[in-house]
Amino acid sequence: MKKTAPITASERSYIVEKEKFVPVSEYFGEDTFNNKAMKDKLSKDVCKKLMAAMNEDKKLDIETANIVAHAMKEWAIAKGATHFAHWFQPMTGITAEKHDAFVDPVGNGEVIERFSGKQLVQGEPDASSFPSGGIRATFEARGYTAWDMSSPAFIRRNGISTTLCIPTAFISYTGEALDKKTPLLRSNKAVSDSAVKMLKLLGNTGVKRVFSTLGPEQEYFLIDTDYFYKRPDLVLGGRTVAGAAPAKGQELEDQYFGSIKERISSYMHDVEEELFKLGVPAKTRHNEVAPSQFEIAPVFEEANLAVDHNQLVMDTLRSVAKKHNLAALLHEKPFAGINGSGKHVNWSLSDNNGNNLLNPGSTPHDNIQFLVFLIATIRGVYRHADILRASVASYANDHRLGANEAPPAIISAFLGDQLTKILDDIEKGTVTKATNGEIIDLGISSLPIVSKDNTDRNRTSPFAFTGNKFEFRAVGSSQSISFPATVINTIVAESLDYLAEKIKKVGGKNLNQAVFAILKDEIKAIKPILFNGDNYTKEWEEEASKRKLPNDKTTPVALKALITNKALDLFEKYGVLSKVELKSRYLIHLEKYIKDLEIEVKCLNNICMNHVIPAGTAYQKELAKAVALTKEALGTGVDTVAQKEILKKIVALLNKIYTGNKEILATVEGASALHDEQKKAELLCNKAKTKMDELREYVDELEGMVDDDIWPLPRFWEMLFIS
Ligand code: ADP
Ligand code: MG
Repeated sequence: MKKTAPITASERSYIVEKEKFVPVSEYFGEDTFNNKAMKDKLSKDVCKKLMAAMNEDKKLDIETANIVAHAMKEWAIAKGATHFAHWFQPMTGITAEKHDAFVDPVGNGEVIERFSGKQLVQGEPDASSFPSGGIRATFEARGYTAWDMSSPAFIRRNGISTTLCIPTAFISYTGEALDKKTPLLRSNKAVSDSAVKMLKLLGNTGVKRVFSTLGPEQEYFLIDTDYFYKRPDLVLGGRTVAGAAPAKGQELEDQYFGSIKERISSYMHDVEEELFKLGVPAKTRHNEVAPSQFEIAPVFEEANLAVDHNQLVMDTLRSVAKKHNLAALLHEKPFAGINGSGKHVNWSLSDNNGNNLLNPGSTPHDNIQFLVFLIATIRGVYRHADILRASVASYANDHRLGANEAPPAIISAFLGDQLTKILDDIEKGTVTKATNGEIIDLGISSLPIVSKDNTDRNRTSPFAFTGNKFEFRAVGSSQSISFPATVINTIVAESLDYLAEKIKKVGGKNLNQAVFAILKDEIKAIKPILFNGDNYTKEWEEEASKRKLPNDKTTPVALKALITNKALDLFEKYGVLSKVELKSRYLIHLEKYIKDLEIEVKCLNNICMNHVIPAGTAYQKELAKAVALTKEALGTGVDTVAQKEILKKIVALLNKIYTGNKEILATVEGASALHDEQKKAELLCNKAKTKMDELREYVDELEGMVDDDIWPLPRFWEMLFIS
């Protein structure tokens, strides 16, 4: 596979043609029906009602909905929209939309454009083909989508087709959540209620609402489409199931934060332009550790919006890539032996006055509040490390977690030296022994804002405190960040309530002392989850096992955490997911694991039978011919040891590849007879997956021996270094 001219002429002209120099501030959010658009299009009175519905959870009356829908339609048509769509996030992990034209026949063969309040507020897509994990039998396939007013409607352009997209929740007719948005919204409410109660208890009465904030750092690979389309494994499964590591990988560390190549910069520019129009505050961009790997990170936003925006980021990365003859790979591990891609999800809580609750404060009182929220978060992580692990479990993410790569499958929390010392002091009682029961003289009277440079030195921790937020690093690059955020919100809500109960019980005259007494006990209890060292070492694995921290390396094992009584009770208690809903999610994820693995098995079979074995056989034939012809020409005494040795090795490898592939297919066949999905997933994971890894080694060895002109698949060095 040879290719030398990466940029095509049409692509170049595409890049050069786009010479618009409009400041971003002038067009930021222009494709969203945001506050500015609302103020332009709606009367003051309607705007007020709409804002109240959005911010105070009030219902919108149908007359107002009609007025809003009409204005939205006029706005969208002016931007070229012909259709509207309820945009939702089914359990597939990607987004879905069903388009309806605005046109409405009015007789005499004429039409007008119409969009009613009812159509805005509720839609009825046929839900039968979306995964529901058994919640809904296909004969009662109806589900409905409900307008989520907290995320602005937006315009989506695809070629010349333009659609008004309305973010919605997706629910079954019996009220169960069928999507990723609904539980997130519920968890936001849960954590808000618990946090407001806690703040009141601590004497902070001015807060009405608390919300979680998310800042996802999205990693991805870019390769030339010419290579992409020659790899069925990449096209169908997102990952190379075979392929030898290149002579040069990432060991020189010359890619990370390196200067960005022209072709990639142009691509990033276009991605950002699209995102800016959609109101996504894309902030940083840089080369990542691996060759051809990059990152884009928007400024953090309220969780629900950040989740929607991350979906748009992923979509945009993919769609813009095509215009540049590139393929954006969002898979967690497209190339074995090369760093995989994750999505660090930064999480914090903010109150409605804009205060970050994980920001160490400037007064003793603020600091106590900070410590309570900090410890509540860590306690949640400790108690439910298994659920947090399950929230990021997928077939693809198993290649990162549990493999020798960032971060491990063991969930632990990193605090850094400064905070660790403070917690140690509290635990030792240094703090509560203070004169007057105050903490003013004890060094934490005014915690300096723990600077990022101070804390964020540990890149191996799955859950690291980075100055004023936690960074959950185990999320996979292709995953929706919704469920991980839902889990964090819920476990923190529970711990806030738990601490509040205890504080109330101790009571007493001095609240600070009561709080410190509780924190002292809690710090002792949660200690096992705290780890500041290198998370990649064998020693940590042993130590974590002594501390009884879960280490679920594979998805089938990790997912079981979703159906323990502990998990079922927790999510039900906080109204985030009913038991039926959570069980269905467990099943959906398990089935997805099985399907992903089976697709890869088929890809591998295809690659072995249609590409690798024919190429190996062709070269085998060449070598055999060469040996015979050389003897014919130079007599039987001639030494053809090189050709013979290679020939023998190739024959042996081809046999191993052929039988290995057959065994994998037989394992999958055998697994299909099992009716227990858990057992099936475990069998595939333990048997088929291990054999696939073994088979890959044979294929990669063969790749290293076969003539370059014969090898049919693009090689790693081509894909990763030519752009
Ligand atoms: P690093 O790579 O060192 O983690 P980045 O600047 O790339 O740093 O990413 C930090 C991310 O954390 C950004 O997306 C940023 O918006 C986000 N972030 C900052 N403050 C908060 C917060 N309070 N809540 C959630 N995310 C936050
Ligand atoms: Mg980060």
